[in-house]
Amino acid sequence: MSVEQKIKELRDELREHNYKYYVLDEATISDYDFDLKLKELQNLETKYPEFFDANSPTQRVGGEVTKNFETIVHEHRMYSLDNSYSKEDLQDWETRIKKLVDGEIQYACELKYDGASISLTYEHGNLIKAVTRGDGFQGDNVTANIKTIKSVPLQLKGDFPPKFDIRGEIVLPFDGFKKMNEARIELGEEPYRNPRNTASGSLKLQDSVEVAKRPLECLLYNLKGTKLGITTQFESLEKARKWGFKVPEAAKLAGSIDEVLEFVEYWDVHRHDLPYETDGVVIKVNNLQQQEELGYTAKAPRWAMAYKFKAEQVSTTLNSITYQVGRTGAITPVANLEPVELAGTIVKRASLHNADQIEKLDIRVGDVVYVEKGGEIIPKILGVDLTKRPVDSKPTEYIAFCPECHTELIREEGEAQHYCPNYNGCNPQIIGRIQHYISRKAMDIDGLGGETVALLVNEGLIYNYSDLYELSKEQIVPLERMAEKSAENLINGIRESKNIPFERVLYALGIRYVGETVAKKLAKHYKSIDTIIKASTEDLVNVDEIGIKIAESVNAFFTSEANNYIVDRLKQFGVQLEISAEQLEGQTELLKGDTIVVSGVFEYVSRNELKKLIEDNGGKVSSSISSKTSYIVAGANMGPSKKDKAEKLGVLLIKESEFLQKINYF
Ligand code: AMP
Ligand code: ZN
Repeated sequence: MSVEQKIKELRDELREHNYKYYVLDEATISDYDFDLKLKELQNLETKYPEFFDANSPTQRVGGEVTKNFETIVHEHRMYSLDNSYSKEDLQDWETRIKKLVDGEIQYACELKYDGASISLTYEHGNLIKAVTRGDGFQGDNVTANIKTIKSVPLQLKGDFPPKFDIRGEIVLPFDGFKKMNEARIELGEEPYRNPRNTASGSLKLQDSVEVAKRPLECLLYNLKGTKLGITTQFESLEKARKWGFKVPEAAKLAGSIDEVLEFVEYWDVHRHDLPYETDGVVIKVNNLQQQEELGYTAKAPRWAMAYKFKAEQVSTTLNSITYQVGRTGAITPVANLEPVELAGTIVKRASLHNADQIEKLDIRVGDVVYVEKGGEIIPKILGVDLTKRPVDSKPTEYIAFCPECHTELIREEGEAQHYCPNYNGCNPQIIGRIQHYISRKAMDIDGLGGETVALLVNEGLIYNYSDLYELSKEQIVPLERMAEKSAENLINGIRESKNIPFERVLYALGIRYVGETVAKKLAKHYKSIDTIIKASTEDLVNVDEIGIKIAESVNAFFTSEANNYIVDRLKQFGVQLEISAEQLEGQTELLKGDTIVVSGVFEYVSRNELKKLIEDNGGKVSSSISSKTSYIVAGANMGPSKKDKAEKLGVLLIKESEFLQKINYF
């Protein structure tokens, strides 16, 4: 046998043992024999480096040290999930989605593993890269660390597609977690708090040898790619399992919400028998074509829903209540608690939401309160243990004046929150607005962080975001923690923000209720800040998806002299306050006034491209057929119930090619 053959044979054998042990939980070889064979392979690889393979089983021991993880933009965004907590929530969800898709809906029910999410890319059966979720748009390249996790296949089996991404969760099973902590305690080190944080912390360790020592596992649940030849979520789980991935067997199909609930109830009890932590169930529309029809909101797929198991609770003493002022002037009361352990973390603070909440629960300083930690980072107070209330306790009096600037607070009709109206003179509001302006989704100013903004305001160097553009290096260098280089970066970052497109500038202004989506809509419709300033409330309300609350808020913003002055200054400094010529390109009014429904599968363009084309040509995309529908662009496999509805309402069907001709696409 040639050396090359011998190496291949050893790799195949070790890979198979690995798979049996770590994916299927079957031991087929003793640890001792495994190590012997691994050693043999290592020796051969050292001796014959020409046969190096980045995915050889020897690569799992780690060794690569990463100082700074490379940032990688996800090809498909990693969304979060909407949460539900009751049968009613799930029924509401079903009602919503049934309006948007045709036909019966089946649900794939899976467990929600509580770890760190990861996206793995495979090409020709080889692991190419592993990227953390990050902010959903981009994450860190942690491939070297992920390779050390034995249940992650480095090479696939069976008839896998040539290229795809697969998503999953890196978890640390309880057992391994316990052992890690025992070892730490023996060394006199602080034990780790909980498996989830330890798992996600492990992915960011610089030395992959350290990661290799941790008993992490990778559980997979989602395939992403084109031409995968798969039509349902459940099928994708089965396929992935065949290719060598660890896909838990708990997944089940349900034909109704009642069946979904049976799954939930079963696992709410039996999850305690699982070797790793779960915090709920994820329910997914099983049919992938229906998934595509449902699409995504700004944050999460419409076709999936998490159902959270009831969270853990503890009781502790409320030491004090403090009040925070946000960038919009909204006041948030915060409960400062006697530190207590809850679901593996130490809880010291909890949100109290607003005055009504405090009054409703009659929460008082000195009370023993029940605290719950759901999915959110800040825990909630659920109620008071009245049997423990001190005899001299007094009801909480909500503050009447701003804790920062001492202006009298206001509370508008129908609003839950108190506000500090001192828009131009209240420090946290001033700082908060500038911090919002520079934030990543807004002007994304490199080299300038939230703390520096606070410093610049407190030093009296800036009063609003337009002042940023007048800052000089000489003013910045003397500041705390600043140097020549960082000051230069900051000035450059500010200058570069002049290239940020209008829609993001509009969002950056921080107009109440104008989030990213609304800013996009307004920018697209009005094309420049001047036309928005001139628009009346009635005019604004006529824009698609702009309600009265938003319209009034936009108007109020531009009635303020101070705001107009700031916007004028931004204009003078060259910030983009209108849509650029490039953005206008490809935009027509050909479909003005048309409300169009898209249905089926298309040949020339993808469904998303089609929607974009409609919008770029001035039309409006709607997800359901009604008497207001102008026509339907119908692809192949249009659902029968949609067809019926169109016929009943006399709505016209147009073929894809015909439609594309209409907008001069060809
Ligand atoms: P959240 O972070 O609470 O919005 O929940 C979304 C996260 O749940 C995803 O990013 C995944 O990391 C995680 N997750 C765990 N199990 C599953 C599953 N079976 N299907 C989809 N997502 C899951
Ligand atoms: Zn104030």
